[in-house]
Amino acid sequence: MTPTASPTSSPSVYEKILLFDIDGTLLLSGRAGYRALTQTFEELFGVVRGFDDVPVSGKTDEIILTDALARAGVEADQSDRRRFHTRYCELFADEIHFPGPRKGLMPGVADLLAALDERPEIRCGLVTGNFARPAQIKLEHFDLRRYFHFGAYGDDAPVRDDLVPIAVERARRWGAEVVAPADVVVIGDTPLDVQCARVAGARPVAVATGSFDQPALEATGAAVVADFSDTAAMVRLLLD
Ligand SMILES: [Mg+2]
Repeated sequence: MTPTASPTSSPSVYEKILLFDIDGTLLLSGRAGYRALTQTFEELFGVVRGFDDVPVSGKTDEIILTDALARAGVEADQSDRRRFHTRYCELFADEIHFPGPRKGLMPGVADLLAALDERPEIRCGLVTGNFARPAQIKLEHFDLRRYFHFGAYGDDAPVRDDLVPIAVERARRWGAEVVAPADVVVIGDTPLDVQCARVAGARPVAVATGSFDQPALEATGAAVVADFSDTAAMVRLLLD
């Protein structure tokens, strides 16, 4: 989440920084985001189903909003966007409590994060297209917040490729001395996650629990796993 005080009992030099995507990688929120976006769009701009057919996988919330505005032919200035952000976050905090398709943690996530948390030489953070507030709400809802110490979000930059350096800088400010980009691993479920890792010189690892299957992810050249259910194998892969 936002940078917090450095731990006094942990080393300041970490061998690895692991940056996880949220949606389709750690969890699915059962379309809570879609419902909150759609309702906000209708309330503010009078357009129904404004996010139907707008591509979302791997995109930042900022770009998703921009695409929806363009499709609907709606002109929105910065103040409209701020109002959208505020209202969307309010509605999302309610919507997360409702059931929805595939809502829950992805296979193996809880065990993997617990296993990684026991390794003093690594620290986990986030790189997600979600705005920071909904990201935090999701992690709290699924009791994952304690595992993540820093991150970069959809309100930090509209383009995902710019998020990894922001997350790494926050890791440094938090107290992690990352020695090389290759010691940063970006874990996500879309080709855009793989791309943002590559652009930053980090190592991509892709997981096929989101909207892309294994062959589609393998076409990116990244290491690909079906899911995180083999904890020991995942730890080995991430710390490779
Ligand atoms: Mg994702």
